[in-house]
Amino acid sequence: MSSSAPSPRYPAPPFAEQAQPWPGLQSKMDPRPDCGETSYRGNGRLAGRRALITGGDSGIGRAVAIAFAREGADVAINYLHPEQGDADEVVELIRAAGRVAVAVPGDLRSEQFCAKLVEDAAEGLGGLDIVVNCAGRQHYCDDIVELSTEEFDWTLKTNLYALFWLIKAAVPRLAPGSAIITTTSRNAYDPNKILIDYALTKAGIANMTRGLGKQLLPRGIRVNSVAPGPFWTPLQVSGAQPQSVVEEFGAEVAYRRPGQPVEIAPVYVTLASAESSYVTGQVWGITGGDGEPG
Ligand code: NAD
Ligand code: MG
Repeated sequence: MSSSAPSPRYPAPPFAEQAQPWPGLQSKMDPRPDCGETSYRGNGRLAGRRALITGGDSGIGRAVAIAFAREGADVAINYLHPEQGDADEVVELIRAAGRVAVAVPGDLRSEQFCAKLVEDAAEGLGGLDIVVNCAGRQHYCDDIVELSTEEFDWTLKTNLYALFWLIKAAVPRLAPGSAIITTTSRNAYDPNKILIDYALTKAGIANMTRGLGKQLLPRGIRVNSVAPGPFWTPLQVSGAQPQSVVEEFGAEVAYRRPGQPVEIAPVYVTLASAESSYVTGQVWGITGGDGEPG
């Protein structure tokens, strides 16, 4: 499989049918997402920084963890217990880059756990300068009448409450010069009709990022968000989309293929880096060429 212009080396649809139980494993995907394991090369842009990355086991968070480590940062990752296999690989890659790796599995839907995660990460890394939120819950439902309160609550707890709890716990530890990066979606601007709950959380994340950018500026903490379009990750094959969409994933954007996580990691690096000292309250879209967010 290969795409037409302009990046022919990355896979394009059609993809094989491949449903996985949630939360999905990167190791079982066909093709495996490219998170930069063999390709990302650092340039010391985050030398000596200490980063916590949620969802750091797979997909976009994994690519960010690899990139940050190769840019010279020590990295703590959070993930769910069933994802230990994916997480072990990331820990090994961070250590292979010569950096400290801290693994803190656990469910972000608990305020208590979010506080402990920040504490464990800061303790394991000897402080904290960067917080990246990549964890997210996306589960499609065709009809609002069928959308259960339990599902709605699950999505909001994971995507919005956890973000609030994590940032609240982290801010007192973040010195001037620190950065928070959230992950929103093209759905914040153009909601998919089968992702009502997910899309509203992503709109909330974008809005919260802009507000916090203003609120935390006097503390010297920058807050920005990344808005991905379609990216080839475990989330997409474990209930986020119907299988028919998975098979044609990414065909709808200008690139006619999904992005690979390695293609978005440099944006997180740039937003985390002190080079972006005048950048806060922004949302950076990498949506496959469709111009969102405007
Ligand atoms: P992914 O499945 O690799 O990552 C999502 C991670 O969320 C999982 O690895 C899991 O560790 C974590 N997670 C979910 N629920 C959790 C919970 N209750 N507690 C702790 N961790 C939990 O998929 P991804 O696509 O790389 O997702 C990363 C982020 O990118 C998500 O916020 C997602 O909404 C966003 N995003 C992805 C796409 C895409 O096309 N892949 C598009 C737009 C936005
Ligand atoms: Mg995962």
